[in-house]
Order: sequence, then structure tokens, then C-alpha cells
Amino acid sequence: MKANCWMGRNTVEVREVPDPKILNARDAIIRITSAAICGSDLHLYDGFIPTMEKGDILGHEFMGEVVEVGREVSNLRVGDRVVVPFPIACGNCLACAHGMYSVCENSNPNAALAEKIMGHAPAGIFGYSHMLGGFPGGQAQYARVPFADVGPIKVQDDLPDEQVLFLSDIFPTGWMGAEMCDIKPGDVIAVWGGGPVGQFAIASAFLMGAERVICIDRFPYRLQIAARAGAETLDYEEVDIPDALRDMTAGRGPDACIDAVGMEAHYPIPAVQAYDRAKQATRMETDRPYALREAILACRNGGIVSVIGVYAGLVDKFPMGSFMNRALTMKTGQCHVQRYMEPLLGRIRNGDIDPSFVITHELRLEDAPRGYEMFKHKEDGCNKIVLKP
Ligand code: NAD
Ligand code: ZN
Ligand code: ZN
Repeated sequence: MKANCWMGRNTVEVREVPDPKILNARDAIIRITSAAICGSDLHLYDGFIPTMEKGDILGHEFMGEVVEVGREVSNLRVGDRVVVPFPIACGNCLACAHGMYSVCENSNPNAALAEKIMGHAPAGIFGYSHMLGGFPGGQAQYARVPFADVGPIKVQDDLPDEQVLFLSDIFPTGWMGAEMCDIKPGDVIAVWGGGPVGQFAIASAFLMGAERVICIDRFPYRLQIAARAGAETLDYEEVDIPDALRDMTAGRGPDACIDAVGMEAHYPIPAVQAYDRAKQATRMETDRPYALREAILACRNGGIVSVIGVYAGLVDKFPMGSFMNRALTMKTGQCHVQRYMEPLLGRIRNGDIDPSFVITHELRLEDAPRGYEMFKHKEDGCNKIVLKP
């Protein structure tokens, strides 16, 4: 089969690789009909996530048709159309029992690698480094889905791929980012990052009853998408964000701040950007936490900082004094996608939201290398790319 493979920093290649096979009784094989490129894939592309190996198959947002099931998968049949959640979860462990699927205790065969960096290991994730399990991803014609009796949900034929594909990741992720804000009527929510994840956080915050949502980014086309969803917008290259947010909230700051940017944040002041880039290059810090620092400093006293942007390791200049003295709360995590798939499918069905609004490009799988470049550099108004194997 053909698959999009990580070949080193800034290089992906669509290669001929062996077809996946059933390895365990709870596996299924999926023929993929749609797969997306995520901001999280850019962290791999840019070489910031350790333990990637040449030839690793990328992709964790995918859906398709079941073509084979292991003997213990009784809920799926050959021919079923399914969306696959990006964290792999067993459904039986303590974490899964609490609905915390992205920290499943049984799905990461390389837990020891992750423990060295993180203390304890999170769940395995498709196409997301060896420290997170070394599972081949879904930017391919076929994928093996472990614990297929727990993760994938069936979708009916009347909803096109474009409307349900993002149940695999970014719609639940944006939803969880807003849910962690514990939104009350009248709340003002600020969202750093106007990418697809930020856009789903904005839509979700409104669905949960936020009074105002403020989106922060620098790309006009992304700020326009946020504005169409009803958000107020701030260009961080034009205004000082904490100042602007103070002015917009009667001096108090937003009730909750969502970081939907993560470890590769950009900063408008070259000297500050150079400081963190140098530390990142020399591995003295692994992540550039500009959005996170601002989200903490801007948040109102006693407010919540919700971090859905991905971080890999250590950050520098974390404003702990502000965080502690002002009684802030931080909530975070890779999304517990399995928890949200059914309820959010219901939301799509009843017309609360049509997730296809994020898509700007559909490419053939063979064009994945061009897709990664375009998405990385935000060229051609690129917001979200769907690959068609
Ligand atoms: P993206 O690259 O399309 O969007 C990121 C946006 O952040 C860009 O528009 C960029 O201009 C903006 N940005 C950069 N620096 C900024 C700054 N200092 N202030 C404000 N905005 C800034 O990526 P995406 O697909 O939207 O993903 C966003 C983040 O969410 C990534 O870190 C990704 O890894 C993460 N993610 C997390 C989960 C999860 O489960 N927690 C799931 C999916 C994605
Ligand atoms: Zn993703
Ligand atoms: Zn589990």
C-alpha cells in the first residue's frame, strides 16, 4: 500500500510499504477514505518530537471502511464505516474507566521510553513517535486499529466524510478545551491560535454559552474564520495581547484562556523569539511557550488556563509567580476523544455544527509532501487539509 512516511526534519515521502495485518484479537484493519493533516503533525515534521524514525507512517486523524476484524471485535463488521479516535485506549484500565482515554495505561508498548521524559507514560497515539507507541498512522491506504472494540465509532452513509472526519481529533479537542474552561453565562473566553483546533474551541465555547470569545492569531484569513464564527479578533503582531485583553474586559482579564498554539508558538519580538529558538536548538528547552506565558498573564484572577496546544518537554520562563499568587487553575491533556465522539456526532446530526467549515484543501495522498509544506507555511489560505488515499 501507499503511505505518507516521516523521512527526517521537513521531509515526508509517500512510499510503498507492506499492508498492515491483524496482530491481536482486538484489532481491525481499516481501508482509509479520508485522513487529515494536523498541527500536531507539524511538530513531527519540524523535528520537535523525539523518538521518530525514518520511514514512520504519519497520520492520526482518519476514517474509512472496516475490511477485517480480529476475533474479539464483536461490535464492528466488515463494511462498516468508522471514524477512528487518535488516542489508542484499552477501555479496561483505571484511566479508561475514568474516561481519560488519552492516558490509557495499556496502549503504549514503549511506555519505558515515555517514562524517561514524562515520569509516567501516556496512551499510544497513531503515527506519533516511538515514545507514544510507534503505531503506524493513517495517512495511508490502510491502517491497523488496536482495541477496535473500544475506539472507532460507526457513522451512517448520509453524513459525508468531511462532516465526521474531525470527530477523530480536532472537534473533540476544541470541545474539551472549552469544557475545561467551566464556562458560565457571561463568561469571556480568549483563545490563542486561530488554527482548526482554535476554531473548534471557539465554536464549542459559544455552544457552551460563552458571552464573548476573543481569538488571537496573526494570519488575517484565520482571524476572518474566527470572526465568521462570532469571535472578536486580535492580531498579536499589531497589539500587545495582555494589554488589549485588559482593555476589552474592564481591566479584569478573560475568565478563561485557551492555549490552542502549543510548543511552536511564534513571537512578534525578534529578540524574544531568538532567545527561545536558541534554547530550543541547544535542547535547553524543548518548547517555545509564548502563547502559554501570555495566557497565564492575561487570565483574570482565579481564572482557568486550558492548554490544548501540544507541549513535548520543558519550558522556560513559566510565570509561576503570577500563576500561584493569582489563584489560577490549569487544565490540560491530549484529548480524551473516545469520551466525546458519540455526543458530538449527535451535535453534527442535529445541525448544531458542520465541522467541514475548517477544510480549505483536499489533496490526493500522493500530494501529502506539498500539503505539509503549504500547511506549515500557511500558504494559499491553507487552514485544514484532507488527504484522499
Ligand atoms: P495550526 O498550526 O493550524 O494553528 C496554530 C495557530 O497558532 C496558527 O494559526 C499560528 O499562527 C498561531 N500562533 C502561533 N504563535 C502564536 C502566538 N504567539 N499567539 C497566538 N497565536 C499563535 O495548528 P492546529 O491544527 O490548529 O493545532 C494547534 C495546536 O493544537 C497544536 O499544538 C497541536 O499540536 C495541538 N493539538 C492538540 C490536541 C490535543 O489533543 N490536545 C489535538 C490536536 C491538536
Ligand atoms: Zn491531530
Ligand atoms: Zn486503558
